[in-house]
Amino acid sequence: MRILVTGGAGFIGSHLCETLLNKGHDVLCLDNFFTGQKENIWHLMDDKRFELIRHDVTQPILLEVDRIYHFACPASPIHYQYNPVKTIKTSVMGTIHMLGLAKRVRARIMLASTSEVYGDPKVHPQKESYWGNVNPIGIRSCYDEGKRVAETLMMDYHRQNKVDIKIVRIFNTYGPRMAINDGRVVSNFIIQALTNQNITVYGRGNQTRSFQYIDDLIDGVERMMNVEDFIGPVNLGNPHEFTILELAEKVIELTNSRSKIVFKPLPADDPVQRKPFIGLAKEKLDWEPRIKLEDGLKKTIAYFDEVLSRLPDKKPI
Ligand code: NAD
Ligand code: UDP
Repeated sequence: MRILVTGGAGFIGSHLCETLLNKGHDVLCLDNFFTGQKENIWHLMDDKRFELIRHDVTQPILLEVDRIYHFACPASPIHYQYNPVKTIKTSVMGTIHMLGLAKRVRARIMLASTSEVYGDPKVHPQKESYWGNVNPIGIRSCYDEGKRVAETLMMDYHRQNKVDIKIVRIFNTYGPRMAINDGRVVSNFIIQALTNQNITVYGRGNQTRSFQYIDDLIDGVERMMNVEDFIGPVNLGNPHEFTILELAEKVIELTNSRSKIVFKPLPADDPVQRKPFIGLAKEKLDWEPRIKLEDGLKKTIAYFDEVLSRLPDKKPI
């Protein structure tokens, strides 16, 4: 098949491009390089079945493709809050353009949605049937509400135009090829620990997240794309829940770091608890995450260690 991956030079998108090429598909990687990096896809450039398109999804594009993985959108709070108007345009206009393309060429399209559609959840763990608790006017809403509208657009194009859709709600995912300046918690803590800087825990560190390793996510995404008669939304996440303080301690232990934990103000609207209920993914996709936090962290630490060793003064952030 000829497959379009929007956001293909980003963290998740680059792993998807690689997996799809390995399965023998032709891959069109589309990215505006806002948070994506050429280094993430450098190793794919010599493959004749790989094409790179520099394009912004807020503008329409005409392509001939069989499938679309629509993953373009900054995902780290510091990046999506940098230009919030652009973030919501990316989710809303970008998804309209990709749905228009899918409708025209009759391609199956998957939206990378997020656990953020549940906001600061009042139900724990979060099931797909929960409608969420999102502040519509807060600093996270450009991302959260953008993705909620993107889900609405997917469902309406499906009901109205019979577009073949898939919605995955991705929970916190980490692994190699996260950008060094990404700003999300796993990469921040690992880089701080490897460079013996203070580990910055926001708030008291008792808020929780459930961390999924990239390989588990890609497996779930592929199963979802290829299953028939199930459009989602489906949660893809690791149900093992950790406090942010526990994560900080684990990273210090695994890196043998001299770093000390320091406490910084908690950002506004930071969700208190997050953990996916993955019964639907188990039932429909026969999927559950396999990689334990400790094992995934070791692989990610090795990646950042290698990246840092190539920097002149090991102090990226
Ligand atoms: P990322 O920032 O590494 O990747 C996003 C990619 O999209 C980048 O390559 C960026 O340059 C590109 N992009 C951004 N705006 C664009 C635009 N207007 N036009 C074209 N390209 C654009 O982030 P990621 O973690 O790889 O996230 C990928 C997708 O998965 C996003 O849609 C995100 O919302 C979703 N997601 C990720 C997580 C996670 O934990 N990593 C969780 C939930 C959802
Ligand atoms: N966080 C932290 N220190 C950091 C970065 C993040 O304590 O250097 C916290 C953040 O406040 C949140 C959690 O870690 O409670 C996860 O943050 P991240 O930005 O990775 O993702 P999200 O909040 O979108 O789940």
